[in-house]
Amino acid sequence: DITVPLPGKTRVFTVSNQKGGVGKTTTTVNVAASLAKLGARVLVIDLDPQGNASTALGVDHHAEVPSIYDVLIDDFPLADVVQQSPEFDTLFCAPSTIHLAGAEIELVSQVAREHRLRTALEQFIREAEEPYHYVFIDCPPSLGLLTINAFVAASEVLIPIQAEYYALEGLSQLLNSIRMIQKHLNPPLRVSTILLTMFDGRTNLAHQVADDVRAHFPAEVLKAIIPRAVRISEAPSFGQSVISHDPSGVGAISYLEAATEIASRGAAEREEATAEETTT
Ligand code: ADP
Ligand code: MG
Repeated sequence: DITVPLPGKTRVFTVSNQKGGVGKTTTTVNVAASLAKLGARVLVIDLDPQGNASTALGVDHHAEVPSIYDVLIDDFPLADVVQQSPEFDTLFCAPSTIHLAGAEIELVSQVAREHRLRTALEQFIREAEEPYHYVFIDCPPSLGLLTINAFVAASEVLIPIQAEYYALEGLSQLLNSIRMIQKHLNPPLRVSTILLTMFDGRTNLAHQVADDVRAHFPAEVLKAIIPRAVRISEAPSFGQSVISHDPSGVGAISYLEAATEIASRGAAEREEATAEETTT
């Protein structure tokens, strides 16, 4: 059943934050799973050598499995490495393997090294038998060539922000990096979505940080907030998103809310664009 508006064109998100442990992978997996549950066809690209997104989606990613490494370094078609998740029929993953740890160095000497993921993804989207509505790229916590490949392949950036003391610090560094990418490699790239994660509503500090982030980015921050919840952190050890692991819990509900918001914002923007076209 399709219960959210679906985009006419594939929306490609890079999930990024130069800090580690802020909920990038958790957000990638659970927003992707939510959209799949709501009826969209979704691909997750695991671009982190740690392979946490592949693990959390229950997708095979031992060293012999064809992976995103082969796509970036050996020109494998993306379609040859994509696996269906065991959880939802419309959720897919291009896994990362241990080999990806070397890719950061190996990419340096490659032709079109910043564009390799983009080229592979464009071909994949063009040739897919059924259209993909969303792609989410899970990034490592650094601005190396892997993350640059993600920024060049994407049209939107989703930034998860942990509602904690230093949340806004470091964000300016990320925004500077994104500006550099816009200027030199991918002008249409934009930060469309900010999601507050690991929110602990019992502390004043969490509320202060949330207010601060909203004041700085009123248009980008989603209304939905992801609370800190044990079910969210334990789901990966079951090879499942929290959407299936604890479907009626606060974790699943808040990620489904965030996903619904992402989908309906996209639809609203499309309507605005159409209205502009017809009036000009
Ligand atoms: P990143 O990908 O940015 O490094 P992760 O998504 O791996 O961050 O999250 C870091 C740790 O925090 C993981 O152990 C994860 O399970 C846990 N975690 C993430 N989001 C939540 C949450 N909302 N509640 C509780 N634990 C969380
Ligand atoms: Mg991660």
